[in-house]
Amino acid sequence: MDFGFTEEQELLRESVQKLMARHAPADLIRTLEREQKFPYALYDEWVKAGLLALPFPEDIGGLGGSVVDLAIVNFEISRVSADFSMGYGGNIFCGLNILKKGSPAQVKHWLPRMMAGEIRFAIGISEPDAGSDVGAIKTFARREGDKYIVNGQKLWMTGGGLKDTVISTYVKTDRDAHYRKGLSLLLIDNDAPGVEYRKLDMLGRRCVGTYEVFFRDVEVPADRLVGVENKGWDCLMSGLQIERAVSAAGSCGAAQAIVDLATSYAKERVQFGQPIGSFQSIAHMIADMATEVDAATMLMWRAVWLASEGRDALREITMAKLYSSEVYAKVANMGVQIMGGYGLNGEFDMQRYFRDSRSATIAAGTSQTQRNLIAGLMGLKPR
Ligand SMILES: Cc1cc2nc3c(=O)[nH]c(=O)nc-3n(C[C@H](O)[C@H](O)[C@H](O)COP(=O)(O)OP(=O)(O)OC[C@H]3O[C@@H](n4cnc5c(N)ncnc54)[C@H](O)[C@@H]3O)c2cc1C
Repeated sequence: MDFGFTEEQELLRESVQKLMARHAPADLIRTLEREQKFPYALYDEWVKAGLLALPFPEDIGGLGGSVVDLAIVNFEISRVSADFSMGYGGNIFCGLNILKKGSPAQVKHWLPRMMAGEIRFAIGISEPDAGSDVGAIKTFARREGDKYIVNGQKLWMTGGGLKDTVISTYVKTDRDAHYRKGLSLLLIDNDAPGVEYRKLDMLGRRCVGTYEVFFRDVEVPADRLVGVENKGWDCLMSGLQIERAVSAAGSCGAAQAIVDLATSYAKERVQFGQPIGSFQSIAHMIADMATEVDAATMLMWRAVWLASEGRDALREITMAKLYSSEVYAKVANMGVQIMGGYGLNGEFDMQRYFRDSRSATIAAGTSQTQRNLIAGLMGLKPR
């Protein structure tokens, strides 16, 4: 059994750490967060460093990396900002879907542009009445000759209003069919006529942003259908597995940063003549945090490794997503407690980690739906 990274993976980790330290210092993140602005300059650095090309095949300009490599990158970006990591992952998940399900012409058209930073992808699944119940999607695409006419609304879309964004939009194409047989995936520019979006006022993740998007008689050329009409459910499910595995890495990275912040604060902050870390209640809290983050991280690496090997890892990925997101939210809460009033103050980073953490147990599937899935795989039928 080998728990270590390869030499290349260690190098990747160090280079992402250096890139983030240089281009995303804490004061810049605070300013961007206050102004709710996307880190476009940082994104350009990711492009230059090849991070957007990481998991794609070399013959289309990618770097041929693995899911483990992706998880390393997401862990390190999230360690600095879980918000920013959402501006990374969405592109990769949609790109991988096009690679797997798209035609050779679509792969050649879309992926090099995304890897070069010319376009970004956002994921359009959720709707006002279709959250956990993804099958209730109502946004409808009617075929008319060589185009589709799309009407409907998406909600909670990460990065939906960023510049040059193409929305991976899940639409109904057969209203009468069961949802597994009546969904399709269309690629729609967020500035196409008839598309309108609004950035939502959310607790956290305020730079990449969460959007609602409206489609009113949007004309979409038929060659923007990914895969086969009415087979969109397969795309959605295969995309979600990678998204959950890699976002588990993000939860672990951010949770590790919280442990590190809390530990150094507890060593420095003096009350009653001694560092607060010498009070057993605080020291034990930090020991528990470190232990749970390590446990989540081990669960995450197992899932990510299985996915990298191309093995069926639905159970392990779901467990990793569930546990790492819950541990992340839990340690963020403890981190605030350890820092007292400073933990709630905008001049310190703990409050940002706390606010960003809260969506981890909701986005990409709630904890309750992950538990339903795990129990279902065990032959139980929770209702
Ligand atoms: C920050 C953020 C970013 C997001 N980004 C995207 C994105 O980019 N693209 C996108 O398409 N979506 C995105 N989402 C949407 C996300 O996937 C949904 O919020 C999530 O699936 C839950 O849907 P909902 O919010 O409608 O909650 P609901 O489904 O209404 O759930 C409400 C509560 O009921 C519980 N519940 C529902 N059904 C069951 C059940 N069967 N058994 C037990 N409990 C149940 C849930 O667990 C939850 O606690 C994002 C969400 C957030 C918060």
